Order: sequence, then C-alpha cells, then structure tokens
Amino acid sequence: MFGFTKHCKICGIDLNKDNVIKRFGKSFCSDEHANQYVQLRQQQQKDDSTRRRDGCC
Ligand SMILES: [Zn+2]
Repeated sequence: MFGFTKHCKICGIDLNKDNVIKRFGKSFCSDEHANQYVQLRQQQQKDDSTRRRDGCC
C-alpha cells in the first residue's frame, strides 16, 4: 500500500505513479484520455449554458 490508488477518469484503468498522466488535477492513463476528458467537460458546459439560456425568461 503506497496510498496511490488512482483511476483514469475515462476508462477507469488502474494507475500507478509510473504511468499516470496528470491534467487539471485529474489522473489519466494517456494524453489521449486527458484530451477526451477536456472535450467531454467542454461539451457538458456548452449543454449547461444552452439549457440555462433556454430556461431563462
Ligand atoms: Zn484511460
């Protein structure tokens, strides 16, 4: 036990300090999945703001 039990936010694979990629305070198994996470986040934020604008007034 080294107190290092992280999982990729995209695919959920086990990570250790030798293969972890850190972006935005999150952990990923690869640059590819880090980028995928950013795209998902941006899409969600876009959806949120669209929905909020539609619901307003
Ligand atoms: Zn992954």
